[in-house]
Amino acid sequence: GFKSYKSKVHIGQFDKYFNAITGLNGSGKSNIFDAICFVMGISSLSHMRASNLQELIFQNGKAEVKKANVSIIFTNTSNILDLGDEIIVTRTIYESKSKFLINGKNSTQKDIQNLFLSAGLNINNPHFLIMQGKVMKVVNMSGIDILGLLEEASGTSIYESKKDSSIKMINKKENKLIEVDRLLNEYVSPKLKQLN
Ligand code: ATP
Ligand code: MG
Repeated sequence: GFKSYKSKVHIGQFDKYFNAITGLNGSGKSNIFDAICFVMGISSLSHMRASNLQELIFQNGKAEVKKANVSIIFTNTSNILDLGDEIIVTRTIYESKSKFLINGKNSTQKDIQNLFLSAGLNINNPHFLIMQGKVMKVVNMSGIDILGLLEEASGTSIYESKKDSSIKMINKKENKLIEVDRLLNEYVSPKLKQLN
């Protein structure tokens, strides 16, 4: 029931490192990405090329199918998250309302976003997806900009501000140490010498 997919379609197994989807124009390749964004709780409808939730349902819910349902299954055997060997996230739209499940348990959109954030995935990061038509822009980016993009996508950029404030703190402490040394040399040491 999601976009051009009228009945249940199972896609997978996915390769661990690299996957490509090929097919004729208009055959539903991008709709698969839209489905992944949808189930991962993306905030922006325009990223799924829709202006309202109803448009995500097969034929806008005007045909016999009235709801859209997407599930994504992750293996979690390495226990990155404390949720068992398999994590199944499901999102359904029915009567213009969204419902989310994590392993069958009712959840909010925020819960879903936090779940993926805790695994280092931020679907709402502007660089998480490079949309059709933006490829040339990325190809023409400078090395520094591409590095920034990778840092943001891999989730390391959030540590930059922490690093900055730590460096500031280290500098402050170093200045204090210099001041302590100066006081030692100018006042304490001469006094000690006198006493000796
Ligand atoms: P391209 O190679 O041009 O990028 P694509 O394989 O990525 O094509 P998609 O954009 O995934 O194609 O699919 C577009 C098709 O999905 C269009 O035919 C469009 O009519 C159909 N479509 C989009 N929304 C719905 C909907 N709610 N119900 C039924 N079909 C839909
Ligand atoms: Mg496409």
